[in-house]
Amino acid sequence: MANETNSSNFIRNIVMEDLQNGTTKEVLTRFPPEPNGYLHIGHAKSICLNFQIATEFNGKVNLRFDDTNPSKEDTEYVESIKEDVEWLGFKWDNLFFASNYFETMYEKATLLITKGKAYVCDLTSDEMKEYRGTLTAPGKDSPNRNRSAAENLELFEKMKNGEFKDGEKVLRAKIDMSSPNINMRDPILYRIAHGSHHNTGDTWCIYPMYDFAHPIEDAIEGITHSICTLEFADHRPLYDWIIQECETESVPKQYEFARLNITNTVMSKRKLKLLVDGGCVDGWDDPRMPTIAGLRRKGYTPEAIRNFCQAIGVAKAASTVDEQMLEYFIREDLNLKASRAMAILEPLKLVITNYPVGQTELLEIENNPQDESAGTRQVAFSRELYVEREDFMEVPARKYFRLFPGNEVRLKGAYFIKCNEVIKDENGNVVELHCTYDPETKSGSGFTGRKVKGTIHWADVSTSIPTEFRLYEPLILDDVAENEGKHFLEQINPKSLTILNGFVEPSVKDAKAFDKYQLFRHGYFSVDPKFTTEEKLVFNRIVSLKTSFKI
Ligand code: ATP
Ligand code: MG
Repeated sequence: MANETNSSNFIRNIVMEDLQNGTTKEVLTRFPPEPNGYLHIGHAKSICLNFQIATEFNGKVNLRFDDTNPSKEDTEYVESIKEDVEWLGFKWDNLFFASNYFETMYEKATLLITKGKAYVCDLTSDEMKEYRGTLTAPGKDSPNRNRSAAENLELFEKMKNGEFKDGEKVLRAKIDMSSPNINMRDPILYRIAHGSHHNTGDTWCIYPMYDFAHPIEDAIEGITHSICTLEFADHRPLYDWIIQECETESVPKQYEFARLNITNTVMSKRKLKLLVDGGCVDGWDDPRMPTIAGLRRKGYTPEAIRNFCQAIGVAKAASTVDEQMLEYFIREDLNLKASRAMAILEPLKLVITNYPVGQTELLEIENNPQDESAGTRQVAFSRELYVEREDFMEVPARKYFRLFPGNEVRLKGAYFIKCNEVIKDENGNVVELHCTYDPETKSGSGFTGRKVKGTIHWADVSTSIPTEFRLYEPLILDDVAENEGKHFLEQINPKSLTILNGFVEPSVKDAKAFDKYQLFRHGYFSVDPKFTTEEKLVFNRIVSLKTSFKI
């Protein structure tokens, strides 16, 4: 699979050609997040791409914080982004902050003014919108378009010195108000924003726009291949214009690929922040979030995420990937790595009436039925057990082979038991089952006397560990037909989190945060780092065991 996706990666092909024909000497890519939120799985796609290209061709990667917007950025995000990139398994060569280039950007802006390629404009944002024209109609020149370079220099300096209020003036490129590409209709290069910046404090009150800042950042660092997502394809002529007119020494080139979208989720820091701020989740690392931190807390491994990113490939056509594909890769990874254990999520007490009171025996249970080398573990068994509520039906449905009155089943790794009596409370709810066991039928004893059709799992009452299980469903309902026109906050799945209190076998008693288990029949689980305490073990379900999804 690796080779297949590599060959369809058109960016890799471009890099290879550039190296062959000498356009590029040493590949230098960058991952340039804006520190205005936590990274999500879409960013992982970009990270994997940038690092893999650099690694494959012996190049380098910069981690660059694109922190040119003072109002939304925060050091907490800077730290989380570093942690997430490292956790994914990548090491950047240099760490940079775009805000450290503000001085150079200012100089480049004055160079443009001097060359008659930029001017200070007084139009309000509404007026500017009106002057911009539409896709079919050309724009109109700003009344300030022909200001002299000297006047522009003076005004720009005043902007810098804080003599104007936010929005009162902007610096614009002087390109072409009738260009068929709206991005080329005298785009804004600098705007005024009073307010503290996480890195530069109050040094600046003018900030460069993305379209101006980004090519200069790339040029300063000597980036050879500036890889971004498809929505910037129409901005590429502007990128090239800035590079040319700013007369940068190095000439980076921009390439665009399709961003990753996944079903039943939102994939934008801005939207994810609304979920956090609105209390819809317990933080950026809530296991329902598509953030790297959320996936990590849920129990995802870096390997699973990297394999997923490799498998989805890099293309120019936008597409939405089924979330089950991501789940496929964590199952693949954990099938080999996770320890096995039995747990009861919704307990129903079961008493083996003919088993001696006070006796406990240790049963040898195989860790992985598919892999003998995984060995066995010992699990205590005694008279009082828990079984899964759904493994009992008072009136069995057709083809129900688990417990019902009069029926015999195997207890996983233990004995045959037969259900004789059903105990109910005053409301008629089943609260306990009374069964008898057959000592002859012990697992591994070679008993062949008779067969049972069902095997169920269990937890020993006296030795099992009380555990909270958190089961997840998609956070966003994704029924397009039903939800058309609705804001995503109106599409939150009310059943996205189910908390169950059950028991897990004692072999997990030393489990630490992020330890992963395959719980018999229930799926893969990981110890939650946020809610687990000395007294309480909390498991997040990463994924159930089976799916009909195929890749
Ligand atoms: P968001 O809307 O989530 O804030 P963004 O593109 O504004 O996304 P940046 O912090 O600017 O976020 O992104 C850093 C890099 O990650 C950019 O190169 C961007 O193209 C890439 N990226 C962001 N989202 C995705 C995605 N869904 N798929 C692939 N790459 C992405
Ligand atoms: Mg953004």
